[in-house]
Amino acid sequence: MSGTAVNNYKADLRAIQFTLYEHLHVEQVFEHETFSHLSREECDATIEQCLRYVNEFTGPLNGPADRVGCVLEGGVTRTPAGFKEAWRKLFELGFMSFPMAVETGGFGGPHAIAVVLEELQSGANTAFNMYPGLTHGAADLIENFALPEDRHRFLPPMTEGRFSGTMCLSEPHAGSDVGATKTRAKQIEGHVYEITGTKCWISAGDHDLTENIIHLVLARIEGAPAGTKGLSLFIVPKIWVNDDGSLGKPNDVVTASIEHKLGIRASATAVLNFGENGGCRGILVGGQANMGMRQMFRMMNGARIAVGVQGLAVASTAYLNALAYARERLQGSSVRHFKDPNAPRVAIIEHADVRRMLLEMKAKVEGMRTLVIKLALHADLAVALKKTDEAKAIYHQGQVDLLTPIVKAYCADQSFRIAELAIQTYGGAGYVNDNPVEQYCRDAKIFSIYEGTNHIQALDLVARKLQEHGGENLRHFLTEIAAFVEAHAGQPGLAAEVRALGEASEALQRAAGALMEFFMGGKIDQVTLVANAFLEAMAEVTIAHLLMQAAMIADGKRSQGDERGDEQSQEDFDFYSGKVMAAKYYVNYVLPGVHAKVGAIIAGDRSPLDVADGGFSSAY
Ligand SMILES: Cc1cc2nc3c(=O)[nH]c(=O)nc-3n(C[C@H](O)[C@H](O)[C@H](O)COP(=O)(O)OP(=O)(O)OC[C@H]3O[C@@H](n4cnc5c(N)ncnc54)[C@H](O)[C@@H]3O)c2cc1C
Repeated sequence: MSGTAVNNYKADLRAIQFTLYEHLHVEQVFEHETFSHLSREECDATIEQCLRYVNEFTGPLNGPADRVGCVLEGGVTRTPAGFKEAWRKLFELGFMSFPMAVETGGFGGPHAIAVVLEELQSGANTAFNMYPGLTHGAADLIENFALPEDRHRFLPPMTEGRFSGTMCLSEPHAGSDVGATKTRAKQIEGHVYEITGTKCWISAGDHDLTENIIHLVLARIEGAPAGTKGLSLFIVPKIWVNDDGSLGKPNDVVTASIEHKLGIRASATAVLNFGENGGCRGILVGGQANMGMRQMFRMMNGARIAVGVQGLAVASTAYLNALAYARERLQGSSVRHFKDPNAPRVAIIEHADVRRMLLEMKAKVEGMRTLVIKLALHADLAVALKKTDEAKAIYHQGQVDLLTPIVKAYCADQSFRIAELAIQTYGGAGYVNDNPVEQYCRDAKIFSIYEGTNHIQALDLVARKLQEHGGENLRHFLTEIAAFVEAHAGQPGLAAEVRALGEASEALQRAAGALMEFFMGGKIDQVTLVANAFLEAMAEVTIAHLLMQAAMIADGKRSQGDERGDEQSQEDFDFYSGKVMAAKYYVNYVLPGVHAKVGAIIAGDRSPLDVADGGFSSAY
C-alpha cells in the first residue's frame, strides 16, 4: 500500500453525528418504505468503515500522488502508485453503490448518508475521488435514461468497478456556452451513431484503473437544431462493448494530452479526440434524439452537489489540520502579559486573531455541512413521499432545486477561502509543502470553475430557481426562517442573533424584489451584474439560519445537563458551547455583509457595465 506515507486527513465524526441526528434527525428516513430496509446502526457502521478505508488507503496517497500527478506515456495514462489498490478496495467495500437502487446492485441508501461518505472520500483525497465520483454520476444517468439493453450492458461493470465513467461536455470553444458544441453524430444503424469531435478538460478521461471507460458525450446529430436544444447524448465506450458484455475493439477514442495544472493533479484531465480515424461509435441514450441536455442535467445536478461536497470536504480537513497545528505551535506570550519579557510562550491558539480564524473556519465548515446534508435529506424525502404525500414531495424537491446552486457555489468559494485561512493560521509552515494546507488550497480552486462556473450557478439561481413554481420555493424558504425567528425571539443569550437573522432575511427578500424590478424593467444586464452578490447573500442567510438552529439545540442540551446536575462531561459541554459560539460568530461577523450586498444590489450602480473597454487600462 502506501508504505511510510503520512495520512494528513482529519475528520470530525462527533460534529458529523450531531448534524445527522441531533440537528437534522436524518433517522426519520428509515420510517419511510423507500429506506426501511436500512437502519441508523447500519449507516453509522458504513460511515465508520468508510473512515477507516480513507485513513488507510486514500488519505496516505494524497500528498505523494499530488507530487507525481498522472503521466501520459506511449498512449497510456498512468495514475500514481497506490491508486489501483485503493480503487479495487473501494469497489470491494461498495461505498460507490451505497445510494444506487437495490435492483441495480446498490444498497438503496439515503443521500443524507451518501454525502457524508463522499465528504470523507473527497476530503482524504480529492483527486482520487474524481474517478469513482464520475463513475457513479455516469452510472446513475445510464440507470435513469438508457434503454434496458444498454443498462444491462453497462451498469453491472460500472457498479463492480470494472468500467469507469466520464461526462464530456466541454470543447475548446464551448465551455460555459455548451450550445456551441461542435462534436457531430451521424446515424449508422438504429441507435448507433458515428461520433466525431474533440472534447477537452475531461476529468478521469483516461487512466489505468479500469479495463474500460464509458464516456457520456454530448453531440449534435446531423440536421439537428442549433444551440442546446439540438444536443443529444451518447454512450461512447473507450473499448467497444459487445451485446453479450464482452469487450470488442478499441473505439477510436484517442487521448491527445493530459493537463498540467494547479491542483487535483492526480486526477487525469484529458483532451479526447473521438473518431479521428472514422471509427468511433456511440449509442444514443434512451434512443431519444435532442434530449441530451435534459439527460445530462441529471448528471450535472448530481455533480453540482458533489462539487459542493468536495468544497466542504477539503475545507473541513484544512480547518482541522490548522486547529491541530494551532494547539501545538508555541509562539509569543499571552497578550495579558505583554509587559513581561519572561512570560511563558503559549500555543498560538491562545492568540485572539488565531481564535478568530479558527472560529470562522469552524462556523463555515459546520454550516456548509449542515446545508449539504439538509439538501440531501430534502432529496431523500422527495423520493420517499412521492407516492404517499405528493404535495410534500413537491415541496422537498423544490428546496433541492433552489438550494443546489447555493451548495455548489458557496461551498466552492468558501473552500478556497477556508484553505487560504488555514495557510494563514499556520504562517510560513502553511506555505511550504511539508504541511497539507497548501495542497488543499490548490485543489480547492477548481471547485468554483468546473461543473458550471460559480457565475453560471448564480444565473441559474436568479433567472430560474427563484421563479420556479411561481416563486413558491423561495416563499417556503423565507417563511421557514421567519417562523424560526418568531419562535426564538426571546431566547436568552441569543435573542440579538435571532433578530439579526430576521433582519438579514428581510433584506434578502428586498433584494429579490429588486431583481424582479430589474427583470420587469428590461435591465437584464443589471440582474447578471448582481447575481453573484445575491447568491452569496442568500447563502449567508441560509447558513446563519442553520447555525442558529444548531445553536438552539446545543444551548438546550448543555443547560439541560447542568440543570439535571448529571455527569455531563466537560467534552460534551465544550462541544455544545462551541456550536453556540460558532453561530454567534457567524451572525455577528459574517451575516452583516448581507446588508452591504443587498444595499449594493438595490442601489443599482452600473459602473462595471458603463466603463468603456478601454477604460479598464490602455495596456494591451
Ligand atoms: C480540472 C478541470 C476539470 C474539468 N472537468 C471537466 C469534465 O469532466 N467534463 C467537462 O465537460 N468539462 C470539464 N471541465 C471544463 C469546465 O467545466 C469548464 O472549464 C467550465 O465550464 C468553464 O468553461 P471555460 O473554462 O471554457 O470558461 P469560459 O466559459 O470561457 O468562461 C470564462 C469566464 O467567463 C465567464 N463567462 C462565460 N460565459 C459567460 C456568460 N454567458 N455570462 C457571464 N459570464 C460568462 C465565466 O464565468 C468565467 O469567469 C474541467 C475543467 C478543468 C479545469
